[in-house]
Amino acid sequence: CGITGAVGLKDISNQLFEGIRNLEYRGYDSCGVAMMNGQRSIVVKKNVGYVEDVYKKENVLHHKGNTGIAHTRWATHGQVTKGNTHPFLSCDKKFAVVHNGIISNYQALRKQLQAEGHKFGSDTDTEVVPHLLEKYYQETGAVEAAFVSTLRQLEGSFAIAFICLPQPDLIYCARRESPLLLGIDDEVKYVGSDFNAFIDHTKNAVILDDDEYAIVSKDAYMVKSSITQEEVSKPVTRIEWD
Ligand code: GLU
Repeated sequence: CGITGAVGLKDISNQLFEGIRNLEYRGYDSCGVAMMNGQRSIVVKKNVGYVEDVYKKENVLHHKGNTGIAHTRWATHGQVTKGNTHPFLSCDKKFAVVHNGIISNYQALRKQLQAEGHKFGSDTDTEVVPHLLEKYYQETGAVEAAFVSTLRQLEGSFAIAFICLPQPDLIYCARRESPLLLGIDDEVKYVGSDFNAFIDHTKNAVILDDDEYAIVSKDAYMVKSSITQEEVSKPVTRIEWD
């Protein structure tokens, strides 16, 4: 239901916390976070319940990261359980993914991936995404190419964000029929389902349109069409809110 992402020089665990807490008003049943610090592994913390409680229970603020994503879930496919809570990791644990919306062809994709040896740990539609990323990354050796191939397989409505070990200082995200925007600050860049995800830190936003994806680092971002893969130049919108 709500996505937040942050990438910067210093620890961003607190920004992720504030981000998803500011998205609480959208409604949710469970929440989680994935963070990276250096290149060794992705830490995933998640559970059923309120953002504040899950952060405490899972000791999230004891973990430091300079690249991360967080999610509040409104379950559509799969019960409200810890196992069905986002983020989801690929089998090789190189990709961690959050998603808003519904991937309508997930059953066919899941069957095919299972036949190819992928093991699923949840009942969600979302989990096909980390497995597809893993599969196409193994085939191409390139994260961006793997993302574009993955997006081409997906039907339905979605906003997706992921972090990955091969490129630990980047957040990748994309949308189709679900809102997603970037928050542009000097030393930190944000991803959010709406302005509230980063309004405490910056009022400069880049609004993604359908079938666009973005690659975001602490000091730059690039938006491309997921259909043509051509770069799209996007205006920075100044949010005028009290
Ligand atoms: N369809 C996904 C799920 O049930 C995402 C739901 C959401 O947008 O929070 O896990």
